Amino acid sequence: MTMAIAANVDPMLPQPYSVRQVVKETPDTFTLTLESSAAGGNRFQPGQFSMLWVFGVGELPISISGDPAERDRLVYTVRSVGQATQTLVSREVGEAVGVRGPFGTGWPVEKAQGRDVLVIAGGIGLAPLRPLIYEVLHNREKYGRLVILYGARSPRDLLYRKELAAWARQRETQVLVTVDYGGLNWRGHVGVVTTLFKYARLQPAGSLAFACGPEIMMRFAARDLETRGLARENICLSMERNMKCAVGFCGHCQYGPHFICKDGPIFSYDRMRPLLGRYEL
Ligand SMILES: Cc1cc2nc3c(=O)[nH]c(=O)nc-3n(C[C@H](O)[C@H](O)[C@H](O)COP(=O)(O)OP(=O)(O)OC[C@H]3O[C@@H](n4cnc5c(N)ncnc54)[C@H](O)[C@@H]3O)c2cc1C
Repeated sequence: MTMAIAANVDPMLPQPYSVRQVVKETPDTFTLTLESSAAGGNRFQPGQFSMLWVFGVGELPISISGDPAERDRLVYTVRSVGQATQTLVSREVGEAVGVRGPFGTGWPVEKAQGRDVLVIAGGIGLAPLRPLIYEVLHNREKYGRLVILYGARSPRDLLYRKELAAWARQRETQVLVTVDYGGLNWRGHVGVVTTLFKYARLQPAGSLAFACGPEIMMRFAARDLETRGLARENICLSMERNMKCAVGFCGHCQYGPHFICKDGPIFSYDRMRPLLGRYEL
């Protein structure tokens, strides 16, 4: 586990950050950039999350969605679904947010070196995958083809629209987007994200797949990828459960023999396959 500010910071102690920028991505989703006046940069692995302390409301786990190379800030993309997320996305520039972490396992990016990389995202699931995409694009020569498959509920729910277009212009990179409901002006794909598999130009047997989205999407995606020749241990999933401490003490996020907060949130499909589809174990 890497710590945000210094290795000896108490993982239970929120560090003071302030809001530098808030960008509206969709009607209910916002990207917040936080900065700290403390010395030392922010280090995290793509796929890790922080516990964000919203004063007077509570604390919640949110994945880091920014570029790991930008050490002077922490970036989060938050969908407003309840009281804590609603209050968080309503923060004004300069207001304070407490940050613990980063916590959890990262995407095993090094394992993907020399191979094709398949990114599969559903909805807000693109947020924890964006640092991985940055990592691959910053080190393009180390990886094979990069294929990004992204599904959202409707065109107005698509995150990072400008970046999706910019990524599609990179060499050896393919970006395919689909929506559940297209509406009159949508000319793109309609259907669940797995319907895009047939258009992906990569060698499944040698690829590593990284998926994040609703659990049912990941379950079907992993099953489909396996039939297309990907080994179970080369399919990585980001799991989500309600959590409190984020360091494996409280047991809130226990899922079978695993604590999602410290053993995950990233797991290989071979470890998750027996558990997937069961919310309580
Ligand atoms: C490791 C991890 C990373 C996450 N990363 C992000 C992220 O990058 N961006 C983001 O927007 N959200 C993320 N979440 C989910 C986020 O933590 C919850 O949406 C938030 O805690 C809800 O709090 P609330 O008070 O706003 O809503 P609540 O009032 O607590 O809940 C509103 C609704 O959301 C559901 N819900 C609450 N918490 C969760 C949860 N953890 N998982 C699934 N459903 C939940 C509730 O059942 C309810 O239906 C992540 C969760 C985890 C565990």
